Amino acid sequence: MSTPTIKHVRAFTLTGRGADYHDQETGHWIDDHISTPLGRYPEYRQSRQSFGINVLGTLVVEIEATDGTVGFSVTTGGEIGAFIVEKHLARFLEGAKVTDIEKIWDQMFHATLFYGRKGIVLNTISGIDLALWDLLGKIRQEPVHQLLGGAVRDELQFYATGSRPDLAKDMGFIGGKMPLQYGPNEGEEGLRKNLEHLAEMREKVGTDFWLMFDCWMSLDLNYATRLAKGAAEFGLKWIEEALAPDDYWGYAALRKNVPNGMLVTTGEHEATRWGFRMLLEMGCCDIIQPDVGWCGGITELIKISALADAHNAMVVPHGSSVYSYHFVITRTNSPFAEFLNMSPKADEIVPMFSPQLIGEPVPINGRMRASVLDKPGFGVELNTALKLNRPYAR
Ligand SMILES: [Mg+2]
Repeated sequence: MSTPTIKHVRAFTLTGRGADYHDQETGHWIDDHISTPLGRYPEYRQSRQSFGINVLGTLVVEIEATDGTVGFSVTTGGEIGAFIVEKHLARFLEGAKVTDIEKIWDQMFHATLFYGRKGIVLNTISGIDLALWDLLGKIRQEPVHQLLGGAVRDELQFYATGSRPDLAKDMGFIGGKMPLQYGPNEGEEGLRKNLEHLAEMREKVGTDFWLMFDCWMSLDLNYATRLAKGAAEFGLKWIEEALAPDDYWGYAALRKNVPNGMLVTTGEHEATRWGFRMLLEMGCCDIIQPDVGWCGGITELIKISALADAHNAMVVPHGSSVYSYHFVITRTNSPFAEFLNMSPKADEIVPMFSPQLIGEPVPINGRMRASVLDKPGFGVELNTALKLNRPYAR
């Protein structure tokens, strides 16, 4: 059996929505008054774009094989990611077999240890890894979920993230996660407003619908504990990313402090098996939320997920669109998935990475049939009508 090799790797950048989903126009719910670690500075409190949350843009990785097949991926990484792909990591791909996914990951990770380990370097490694899985699937004419061992259920079930859990309920989702609006620097009044907002939402959605708060690394242990205790009477299902990603000790304490039955979740800004090992072994959370485009890609997520399973933790990836869907459908410890509602008012369903992917599936009535994912690779194509820039062309 002859296996194609990798002929060429290309890295492009794109701006405006898509995989860098924070890069939205003014007036979008995702850039409204949201509690962040920059909340300590009043001038950066109203908008996350004010402190630069959208500076990176999207990184597109394209990998072409000797048989002419092209695999690709999108992630958050922009020009810095493109530099790392073309100037550094392409050497580990070009000439390798398209099946050398494990070896390529290992070489990329170890070759970047001196400046990498987490953050944008891992976003970039993830982007390459996802493009490799897409390429292999397209060459074999099989969906990635099948390469991963096959679907363990007939459909995916989703909760929605956005400013309108009440509308998410009407759209058929099992739960709604809202950004926390006020942080510790906005005092007792802010805490009261957060709880009032939750109470209002609970009133609208009734008792059974899940409601969650996403705190985006912005709280301290005391505030998070008080928020969790105050939120118990309104049935808050989980408190997400309450503390800084490096504060494993704080998370371990928070998990002990929250009311019985409330879940602690985190991990969207964590990367690799070693990062998640800290969260799992220290008992930091009930659900880990790796972003498939940031944690190291599918190759690393397989390891992270196995480790989580052994710790009885669920794996519910952060966002990640099709990259998440193809993984979640193959794992029993990933019983549901996140859908990031990227419409400006969170009042309609649009593809999460719109407008960058062609054929990107969306949940219908909060669900997605496994058969929707039965296309080669990740089942999507790059929207080449967009203005692709290749800053480090070789
Ligand atoms: Mg989050």
